[in-house]
Amino acid sequence: MNYDVIIIGGGIGGLTTGALLVRRGLRVLILERGSRIGGYVTSFKRGALTFDATGAFLGGCEEGGEFYKILVQTGAQRHLRFLRIETARNIYPDFSLELHLRGGFEEYIKGVRELFPQERKALRDYFDLIGKIGGEINRFTGLTWWHKVLFPFYFRHLILYQRASLGRVLDSYFQNEGIKQVLATLPSHLPPSHLSFLFTATLISKVLTQGVWYPQGGMGAIPQALEAAFSEGGGEVQLNTEVERIEVEGGRVKGVLTRRGDFFPARTVVAAINIRRALSDLLPEEYDSKLYDWVHALEYSLSSFLVYLGVEVDLAPLALPYLTYLSSGNTEMEYEQLRRGEMPDDPTVIITIPTLLDSSLAPRGHHVLRLITPAPYGFRNGWGGNDRSLYLEIKDEMTQRLIRTVEARYISGLSAHIKFVEAATPLTLERYTGNERGATYGLAPTPRQFGRGRPANKTPIKGLYLAGHYTRPSHGIVGTAISGSFVAEMISREQGR
Ligand SMILES: Cc1cc2nc3c(=O)[nH]c(=O)nc-3n(C[C@H](O)[C@H](O)[C@H](O)COP(=O)(O)OP(=O)(O)OC[C@H]3O[C@@H](n4cnc5c(N)ncnc54)[C@H](O)[C@@H]3O)c2cc1C
Repeated sequence: MNYDVIIIGGGIGGLTTGALLVRRGLRVLILERGSRIGGYVTSFKRGALTFDATGAFLGGCEEGGEFYKILVQTGAQRHLRFLRIETARNIYPDFSLELHLRGGFEEYIKGVRELFPQERKALRDYFDLIGKIGGEINRFTGLTWWHKVLFPFYFRHLILYQRASLGRVLDSYFQNEGIKQVLATLPSHLPPSHLSFLFTATLISKVLTQGVWYPQGGMGAIPQALEAAFSEGGGEVQLNTEVERIEVEGGRVKGVLTRRGDFFPARTVVAAINIRRALSDLLPEEYDSKLYDWVHALEYSLSSFLVYLGVEVDLAPLALPYLTYLSSGNTEMEYEQLRRGEMPDDPTVIITIPTLLDSSLAPRGHHVLRLITPAPYGFRNGWGGNDRSLYLEIKDEMTQRLIRTVEARYISGLSAHIKFVEAATPLTLERYTGNERGATYGLAPTPRQFGRGRPANKTPIKGLYLAGHYTRPSHGIVGTAISGSFVAEMISREQGR
């Protein structure tokens, strides 16, 4: 069978690219090294409990939203139903904040203003800026030739803040350290001093205008829907098939070679995997020497440690939200510890309880809880090195540390109700998906790695494209789906569709 396009990797980036390309009449094959599609975005079952392996929420799922539009274009929309996340809670050592996510900018600003009335004016000015940047980002997506010509005029703030960290901007607007903590509470695994301000502004304006959502049935419903749409369009998926080489001749891709030794010829190849692996390990040596320095200078995101809990308890009296962000209060210090390869004693923990949104994920009277904290790949000599029993010991120690933190600061008596517990380390994330050192978000969203600072979707090798969270526009489920739509558009144009 000859394919027009071969996609390496069946994560959200690869699946979206494939599902869009089959709609344009192209013959597409996805090669996935794992035994299931979805990459990081997957659910797993333990008895009658359904857990989400990694992700917790996504934006743009409402009619007209960014992700919604892509799902409609792929045909996956009719396989999915999204539940809106109405509230979230941020808990800091000295105060807490209830977030009413449906209320958009106004409701969010009101909540923060009530806590920090002295920062009223600065808050208004800051959100004016966020709104302007959000508008420029939206216009950037539909860039026309006159926008390009008048780029500095239309995109003044994108130019002005392109290298700014969130920390720098917060310091220039606010005096109070508490409000800075609140405005920096984001799922990025980076503290304000290292986090791109433009990334933050984009994320906040999208979350506050498009809402946040959870797919009914668990996060695994998303790749399942994309795979269904892909297959309905005639696409093929081969699981348990690892690509070991991308063949290139005369500066153009010729196809891919799998670990089993099968060669699949194709004029177009999309690598929707770890960028270092794609552009350093998989390409012929001559390209490695050309791209080595550039690829190895990229900064990867920190990994994560996750705990999956099944509990038998009635949570209704506690009136908990689906998502709670339990902040350590000093993310700068925490980050420095993590960079040194240490795990903080009292770490930041993100808690999600999917059964509060979708009760079908556990039997009656039970809930599933998921705890996430940033974690270094190199902790305790790489989680015990090759010593399996030490690995299990460290994993158990960390599991208990996270449960203790949640119990002490949030849900007292939690451990008495735990009926099931399992954990995932950075090594687990790497083993299942091949992500660099278990990188949570692919490339770290630093100022240097925002927008055009990220690797382009088109590579210097003819016919070789990149999708996924190491490339443009950004990480996350929606970011990688958009990368898939960029790549699908480029390939369709190249192949005259
Ligand atoms: C703990 C955690 C929490 C997160 N929370 C959220 C969240 O709440 N919301 C959100 O939007 N995002 C979240 N993310 C990020 C989001 O999941 C990712 O940015 C996104 O899913 C990346 O998709 P991808 O397609 O680029 O890559 P991946 O998901 O890594 O998929 C790559 C696929 O390629 C396969 N592969 C690798 N090498 C090869 C090879 N040589 N041959 C064949 N196949 C190969 C892998 O097996 C894998 O299936 C989270 C991530 C983590 C780890």
